[in-house]
Amino acid sequence: MTERPINDCFFTDKERMTHGEAIALLKSRLSPIASVSSVALSDALDRIAASPVAATFPVPLHTNAAVDGYAVRHEDIARGWLPVSQRIAAGDLSPQPLAPASAARIFTGAVMPADADTVAMQEDCEIDGNTVKLPPKLKRGANCRQAGEDVAPGDTVLHSGKRIGAADIAALTSIGSSSLKVFERLKVGILSTGAELREPQNGAPDLQMGEVYDVNRPLLHALLSNLPVDITDYGIIQDTSEDVAAALRLASSQCDIILTSGGASLGAEDHMLAALDDLGQRHMWQLAVKPGRPMMFGQIPKSSGGEAYFFGLPGNPVAAMVCFLMYAHPAIRRLAGEDWFEPMRFQVVAGFDMKARKPDRREFLRGRLSVQNGSTFATKYPRDGSGLISSLRESDGLIELSESGAAVTKGQLVDFIPFSAFR
Ligand code: AMP
Ligand code: MG
Repeated sequence: MTERPINDCFFTDKERMTHGEAIALLKSRLSPIASVSSVALSDALDRIAASPVAATFPVPLHTNAAVDGYAVRHEDIARGWLPVSQRIAAGDLSPQPLAPASAARIFTGAVMPADADTVAMQEDCEIDGNTVKLPPKLKRGANCRQAGEDVAPGDTVLHSGKRIGAADIAALTSIGSSSLKVFERLKVGILSTGAELREPQNGAPDLQMGEVYDVNRPLLHALLSNLPVDITDYGIIQDTSEDVAAALRLASSQCDIILTSGGASLGAEDHMLAALDDLGQRHMWQLAVKPGRPMMFGQIPKSSGGEAYFFGLPGNPVAAMVCFLMYAHPAIRRLAGEDWFEPMRFQVVAGFDMKARKPDRREFLRGRLSVQNGSTFATKYPRDGSGLISSLRESDGLIELSESGAAVTKGQLVDFIPFSAFR
């Protein structure tokens, strides 16, 4: 690949980009970079389809009974008692055409005999020896599944760019697919920066004053676990410009996407911005978003040709998770071949008041859902602070507040994005 995926800098030199502008840029400028290969259907869960799959035959293949009961010609129901002329179970391949003025004993999934068009549930029938009387008000076509009613020949069962879920596996199996083309996994490199970060050792607390365990790498491993990526972990990088630059150089030579955390602001101990500007191209930095202001996005050319995409997440774990979910998660899915992913949002009743709010920035509060008198309420985690991992742990998702700065009054509707939307 010689051409740069994004070959003009779309970094707007505005002081801070809004959330909407950041999403619009990622959405309009990113496109799939993954190559294509075939996988067995049994390995296809959570992979992204790289070509459409269409049905070549109808599903179901034959019109069949939807219940256990009796199959008849609809007009024969008015005759009252009918002799039972044959018995057809699921798996009986070619039943005889239905004898005139008779009923066929039939079971769920069994092929309908030619000339029969209606099935009565056995519970609704009267039975006397080898004769049966069907309920007189049964509609024509009742309890029958028509050939092709699920999928018609030529129907597209899977679109290119769709992440393959459990239902897709079921649908592909129903049309006889056993392997398919998917996008290959992207290589994602992750690293944390910070001289204060330590790796936990066998559960024994061994922190010195001023140190914290590196939370963000395990967090990112977990957040990436369902995405079609292979992770390379570059560990903890010290706060020097040399170490940060060397880590980015190595990661960009080996990976399609780099996720870093920490060191993203302008402090003397923050080296990420300078390293990105030095090695590559910055497209985004400083968002009008809380938490997550120092979020960075850019690209770094590989010495072997091609580019690595770079996401510099804030260091605070809450901000790192919010920025990962809002920006990196959809971007990775798009680069990995998927159509643009928009997280599900729904409106819930605010179970809290929030008086003073700064305008001109989007806020993502951590919130918990509860149902009271049939309405869904979101309660805000009582303490702010983007270092409070408890705010994530105690929450079901993010309450999204607009840039208007308007106060929130208990009882009004607010937007809610559940964490479960990101899988
Ligand atoms: P920074 O963005 O590097 O200024 O870090 C902001 C805050 O987040 C500091 O309190 C850091 O100690 C903390 N922090 C940064 N990276 C991590 C990490 N990987 N795990 C836990 N806390 C972190
Ligand atoms: Mg730091």
